[in-house]
Amino acid sequence: MSELPSQDVDLIIIGAGPAGLAAAISARKNGLKNLVIIERNGWLGGILPQCIHDGFGLERFKEQMTGPEYAQRYVDELKRLKIPYMLDSMVLEITPEKKVFVSSPKGLFYFGAKAIILAMGCRERTRGQICIPGTRPAGVYTAGVVQNLINLKNVMVGKDVVILGSGDVGLIMARRLTLEGAKVHVVVEILPHTNGLPRNIQQCLIDYDIPLLLSHTVTEIHGQNRVEAVTISPVDKDLNPIKGKEQKITCDTLLLSIGLIPENDLSKNFGVKLSQVTGGAIVDENLETSVSGVFACGNAPCS
Ligand SMILES: Cc1cc2nc3c(=O)[nH]c(=O)nc-3n(C[C@H](O)[C@H](O)[C@H](O)COP(=O)(O)OP(=O)(O)OC[C@H]3O[C@@H](n4cnc5c(N)ncnc54)[C@H](O)[C@@H]3O)c2cc1C
Repeated sequence: MSELPSQDVDLIIIGAGPAGLAAAISARKNGLKNLVIIERNGWLGGILPQCIHDGFGLERFKEQMTGPEYAQRYVDELKRLKIPYMLDSMVLEITPEKKVFVSSPKGLFYFGAKAIILAMGCRERTRGQICIPGTRPAGVYTAGVVQNLINLKNVMVGKDVVILGSGDVGLIMARRLTLEGAKVHVVVEILPHTNGLPRNIQQCLIDYDIPLLLSHTVTEIHGQNRVEAVTISPVDKDLNPIKGKEQKITCDTLLLSIGLIPENDLSKNFGVKLSQVTGGAIVDENLETSVSGVFACGNAPCS
């Protein structure tokens, strides 16, 4: 590996979502010249280009913006400040000596970095992680995947939908699917309260007459090739399904909005301490991790 081409930088930022872009802009404005952003996607902005609803920018810019508009503010500033970035380039490994190995269209190489910012974002929990029993038909999606398919690829995923989990991405997709002509039968939430913002409950569910069923969960998925129905059950105070009170809902699609996991596979391998609860990097008040000179921001640290 040490035979590979290499380059030394003062700061390397992994991930060009809003957190990585903001960190790079701040570093440059504070005088840092020799920095680079590495992004595995072919675009800047991370998840935000697929978040086409408004509600972004209220705190930072005091404006109502969509996700793409919010991201574009940072992209414009990044370009104005001439901050270098590499797209289609994935960080594969970081060593304790702060060697950052990258696979890019130019080949495999490494950066030697004085400081590193981890801004890799998060990924969604899946069916496998909560072990929903039943068959394994097509039509079970995470909410973010559906957001990507509808908003960026113009692909509609189903007509009769049940959503498990009342996190904000699920609520936003309940409205989006309805606007695209699907029937969202119910949003099912295992907890006795919702996890979504009150604004999203009002604007995404109540305004569209989509029922929210608290203290319930999906206990079985039915269907061979395609989802045909799901069974939902009420849960007791320990979140265990109550037998004998199940109901079966006919549907062709189950959307999961059951939580996000910080993207920290890279962080584990060179000693960054992660929270046992969230899987995010543990940081101090300066967002520095347990490894000196390594920082984490955005969705990558624990919150
Ligand atoms: C699927 C999904 C849907 C979401 N939908 C919404 C929504 O509708 N509304 C909302 O308010 N919030 C939504 N969020 C939350 C949203 O992601 C955050 O508000 C915001 O994008 C976090 O910014 P970030 O920069 O930390 O992460 P991200 O925007 O996720 O950016 C992280 C970047 O790091 C890159 N990366 C990761 N690993 C590597 C690597 N090894 N090498 C190189 N690059 C790497 C990724 O490709 C990505 O571009 C969603 C999150 C997810 C995961």
